Amino acid sequence: MKTYRIAAIPADGIGPEVIAAGLQALEALARRDGGFTVDVTEFDWSSDRYKRTGALMPEDGLDQLKAFDAIFFGAVGAPDVPDHITLWGLRLPICQGFDQYANVRPTKIMPGISSPLSNVGPGDLDWVIVRENSEGEYSGHGGRAHKGMPEEVGTEVAIFTRVGVTRIMRYAFRLAQARPRKFLTVVTKSNAQRFGMVMWDEIAAEVSKEFPDVTWDKMLVDAMTVRMVKDPRSLDTIVATNLHADILSDLAGALAGSLGVAPTANIDPERRYPSMFEPIHGSAFDITGKGIANPVATFWTAAQMLEHLGETAAAARLMRAVEKVCADRVMTPDVGGDATTQQVTDAVCDAIRGENI
Ligand code: NAD
Ligand code: MN
Repeated sequence: MKTYRIAAIPADGIGPEVIAAGLQALEALARRDGGFTVDVTEFDWSSDRYKRTGALMPEDGLDQLKAFDAIFFGAVGAPDVPDHITLWGLRLPICQGFDQYANVRPTKIMPGISSPLSNVGPGDLDWVIVRENSEGEYSGHGGRAHKGMPEEVGTEVAIFTRVGVTRIMRYAFRLAQARPRKFLTVVTKSNAQRFGMVMWDEIAAEVSKEFPDVTWDKMLVDAMTVRMVKDPRSLDTIVATNLHADILSDLAGALAGSLGVAPTANIDPERRYPSMFEPIHGSAFDITGKGIANPVATFWTAAQMLEHLGETAAAARLMRAVEKVCADRVMTPDVGGDATTQQVTDAVCDAIRGENI
């Protein structure tokens, strides 16, 4: 029997609530399938740790994580710590340190959950957004000259490399090729941004030649937001820069009903390091401790983790269980229900144990 070593980093806000839910579902799946077990180690790396010790994670944090098969991450961010400190202190060092360059964000409308778009239901919106996750606008380069002075200048430098763009483009074309519609939309802002973005367009055209069976088109990111709202059926697989895809995928989550149902996987496709799986949402201070955080995004990302580990049957079973529970309208208030996190979790675990799932 296979044992997967999972590093759980629940971190802040509702992170611990949704990670606890996700671990219960993983446990139920392991019991039901009998083919694998999960060996979970929890890390207390968080904003609380930062307030206690001055660092969100220890200096040798990446070394500690290296031995694991996957990382299961909650959310980071606290009301009394600046967001750039929490993001750069925990999540980005893991993504960038382990070169998890492909950030994969599937979106679809679950049965029982309604989209804010009228006349759009399950099946009408079925996208995967591929976000470049290692460079671009989040390269961390820039600075502030004459800080605090009237003549202050702040720069925020986006760095795009041929290697970085080519590998994410290949990943996206390959993913599009594996999906039934074999259709990719490449998003840039290459009218206003003349260098890195024009290079994206050129590299897309080059890489497309390796995938003659994939149809593709190009969009400017501003027009893309309109297309997502007005013509969601026209989209399938989407690739965009670190910043653009960050924004587009929050929109996608909202169009699918709630940020609470949107998952994300930070993948090292070459499997040199562990990949990291997390819900898209943040620590949601407004609902922390109320027991009503939607665990669906975390279940879905647990399914992405199982898929990545090669447990495809368990991944599919988990998704069927989640869809059944959504269709039964056992859901949290953010998607119009009145169930608690634990009630949704219990229903999903029951469904996993059920005969027909
Ligand atoms: P957020 O995602 O935490 O919350 C936005 C809104 O969505 C809130 O109203 C919240 O209640 C709701 N929401 C989010 N997840 C939900 C869930 N599972 N169930 C029900 N409702 C849910 O974003 P924010 O308010 O902009 O940020 C809060 C903190 O989280 C900030 O410190 C921010 O930096 C951080 N953040 C972290 C991550 C991450 O760890 N990956 C991502 C985004 C934001
Ligand atoms: Mn985001």
